Amino acid sequence: MPRLMSGEKSHFIDPLRFAHSKQRLEGSLQLRLMKRLQRLQDDGDTLHYRLLFDVDMAGFCSIESEIWVSVILQCQRCLKPSRFDIHKRNLLGVVNNQTEMAQLDSSYEPLLLEDGRLLLNEFIEDELLLALPVYPLHQRQECSGQTVLERINAESKPTPFAILESLKKDHH
Ligand SMILES: [Zn+2]
Repeated sequence: MPRLMSGEKSHFIDPLRFAHSKQRLEGSLQLRLMKRLQRLQDDGDTLHYRLLFDVDMAGFCSIESEIWVSVILQCQRCLKPSRFDIHKRNLLGVVNNQTEMAQLDSSYEPLLLEDGRLLLNEFIEDELLLALPVYPLHQRQECSGQTVLERINAESKPTPFAILESLKKDHH
């Protein structure tokens, strides 16, 4: 099994050739090498991936992709760092043009490769970008903050106790 270690320069692979020999590719990639990951609070972690290449009944090259990584993102409630464990699996069908894309089974996510080659590190980075939570939040019990919406709700809805207190004050 080919093993690609992090730190290597991104290089092209030929998914069709890999598919015909049912290759399995495992490796790891350091987050600090991913230039488009600007939302990370810390890029010291390492992502692990596994790719399984195959050819389906219709002749399409399929890639079953799996990534595992732990990342630190800014919690949108308290704005402090929060750790997220990400494990994402995706099934991709390689297509070379729009016609093929239209024929692809809907269980696949289309992966358009115009020259038939796949830039490995970029591909893994795309998979991670899609897997990151859009609106990262701590677990409620671990979070010290309130979202803007929660703050507005808390301010605009007085508790029954507060209403009672204000009624009492009116009588004095
Ligand atoms: Zn938080």
